[in-house]
Amino acid sequence: MIYKVIVDISNQEVDRVFDYSASFDVPVGSRVLVPFGRQTKEGFVISTAETSKHETKDIIKVLDDYPVILPEMLKLCEYLKAQNIRYIDSLRLFIPAKLRGGRVKILSKYLLSLAEGVNAEEAKTRLRKGSDAQAAILDELAAAPRFESEINAMYSASAVKSLLAKGLIKKELVEIERAPQAMAVKRKEITLTEEQQKAVDTVMNGGEGVYLIHGVTGSGKTEIYMTIIEKLLAEGKTAIMLVPEISLTPQMLGVFRLRFGDKVSVLHSGLSDGERYDEWRRLRLGESRVALGARSAVFAPVQNLGAIIIDEEHDTSYVSEGNPRYFTSDIATFRIKYNRAKLIMGSATPSLDSYQKAKTGEYKLITLRNRVNRCELPVMETIDMRKELRAGNVSIFSKELLSALDKTLAEGNQAMIFLNRRGFASFVRCRSCGYVAKCKDCEVSLTYHKDDNTLKCHYCGRQYKMIDKCVVCGFQHLKEGKVGTQKVVEEINRIFPHARVLRMDNDTTRTKDAYFKILSAFGEGKADILVGTQMIAKGHDFPNVTLVGILDADLALYFSDYRSNERTFQLITQVAGRAGRECKRGRVIMQTYNPKHYVFRYAERYDYEGFFEKESNVRETTKFPPFTRIVRLLVLSQKEDEALKATRKLYTELSALKTERFMKEIIRVQAMRAPIKRISGSHRFQVVIWEALPEKAEVMPEIYKIAESAISRDVTVFCEINPQQMI
Ligand code: ADP
Ligand code: ZN
Repeated sequence: MIYKVIVDISNQEVDRVFDYSASFDVPVGSRVLVPFGRQTKEGFVISTAETSKHETKDIIKVLDDYPVILPEMLKLCEYLKAQNIRYIDSLRLFIPAKLRGGRVKILSKYLLSLAEGVNAEEAKTRLRKGSDAQAAILDELAAAPRFESEINAMYSASAVKSLLAKGLIKKELVEIERAPQAMAVKRKEITLTEEQQKAVDTVMNGGEGVYLIHGVTGSGKTEIYMTIIEKLLAEGKTAIMLVPEISLTPQMLGVFRLRFGDKVSVLHSGLSDGERYDEWRRLRLGESRVALGARSAVFAPVQNLGAIIIDEEHDTSYVSEGNPRYFTSDIATFRIKYNRAKLIMGSATPSLDSYQKAKTGEYKLITLRNRVNRCELPVMETIDMRKELRAGNVSIFSKELLSALDKTLAEGNQAMIFLNRRGFASFVRCRSCGYVAKCKDCEVSLTYHKDDNTLKCHYCGRQYKMIDKCVVCGFQHLKEGKVGTQKVVEEINRIFPHARVLRMDNDTTRTKDAYFKILSAFGEGKADILVGTQMIAKGHDFPNVTLVGILDADLALYFSDYRSNERTFQLITQVAGRAGRECKRGRVIMQTYNPKHYVFRYAERYDYEGFFEKESNVRETTKFPPFTRIVRLLVLSQKEDEALKATRKLYTELSALKTERFMKEIIRVQAMRAPIKRISGSHRFQVVIWEALPEKAEVMPEIYKIAESAISRDVTVFCEINPQQMI
């Protein structure tokens, strides 16, 4: 018997499958030790054959007493291979580091902050004229320390370098540890509501396939998931429960522990390698039968899978940004087909993509219209910040929000103040009328590029001259200052000196257990106001919160992403859902410079369906997903001419493909420099392809082939489908 073995060599650019023989039986999926050149290496047996064309050496030994890769996962490898993901990269997703020769990666990042004793304002005056990026970085860091990778992406790596050289800022390596703890939760006697029971029945009686649960915030989706899992366990099956970021949801962990005890294993990035291995092994050997975790838990080694549940399915964390890039729902779909199981996705604001599929009948739709306790959803009010400005209020808080805060504090209730940090730097907005510059072709916000003083569309590459006054109202103050969470806390302290304020953002949650501590303290009533970024929007359940303030509700609208409207709607709905959970009447105050935008009109009324119709229309006319598929080939090289050459080659070949398949499969091909031209010495170009009708398009393998052919010693090409962020 010949065994096909993938040898685990980490710096290998291609998959190499080697033939080995053995004097004993080796089950497929085993981890083995093999002779490799003059060394011995670890490898994985992925298949067998009768004969080999080569002379073969013998496998030295089998390393574990059970095959570490299940047959299902080998099939999944093949499936991913067709999407250009190498075997070895897939295997790395499934198998804990501890099982792979102890190659251990500690997650650490460089953190930038102002150097000791440096005052940003004063330091800026000492910079040479034209050092705008450096000045902006100083401002940014004065507000809060940031990761170097973020700052590099927002400004420029060279500006960071010069600031470091001048000793104005410092950088340190920090370990990112986010081991979650379960939050102590009280056992509640719960009888499912009629809506919940109906949802459970629909799923349990509905056979295999995909279910989309669209339920308002507080409709008790977690209880539905747990009841379904319980029923599946009773049938002898297993389940995978995915949540966006487990460290942000210690409550979820708490309720699962309470309900399932040690039948549940938790998988997430904050575990030590030893812990992760233990959890993985318990699942692999069937000692635990529920895997709870963030997106990578979709690869949990469970057998006889009954269901995969994806909570908050719209969340961006379900797309892996690293290598290999994968869509969690894609993997989940593969696994439930293999196991003839159910995929259950839940959200108060499903992604347009999923809802579209529910409408066409591809997914089974379950709608929950009521909160479990029949409490009403909080009242939303939109505040026009342009009016505040005209009335002489230049503060970050509207009068309405201040008086609501005052009232909340007086009543002894709690408030959450939400500040969006996404899409910060670069769009151009008129503070007087709210006008924002957009691409004429794509309807996507333009991004301001300081280096050549232009506005650019990150999708089609079209350039516009920078404007110096508002094209609608003529107002001349277009740019605006940035506000950070720290500033917000300072303001609150100044206005309400007796209020106890907690802050939750990247900055305050670096240390182990920080999330947990902040959320617990707030939950126990040790603070009156919680100020935070996106992190506070997730599914927290704090009964005493009666007020939610959203400071700059439209910020996310101007991110150069075709999903900006969708993301804004989701974010607002999620944040708003934090108020009035236990029938204390909740109130949400939403501040914006663009109150007429349809996102706010629909969000205010919790009208998801209305928003969906409107936004679908826009996507269909502008030819964006889910009506098309956007593929970006990102070309990277240390050598600019090589990158350019590869980009030209890609463009030529893809244009030829377009001519051949025009409108049937390919609508448009564009080549340009990437929005960020260089990252750590690497020149970046991109070719963007608009594919028609993704479900029918068979053109992807050809695109992969063309992409592959442009890769050389000097040039890397990444292929991204519907990329989250065009930078
Ligand atoms: P969602 O995820 O839909 O926003 P949750 O699952 O967080 O909602 O549920 C909100 C709250 O309602 C939780 O505290 C949960 O324990 C409680 N809950 C859920 N179902 C019931 C029920 N049938 N009766 C009483 N309380 C319930
Ligand atoms: Zn455009």
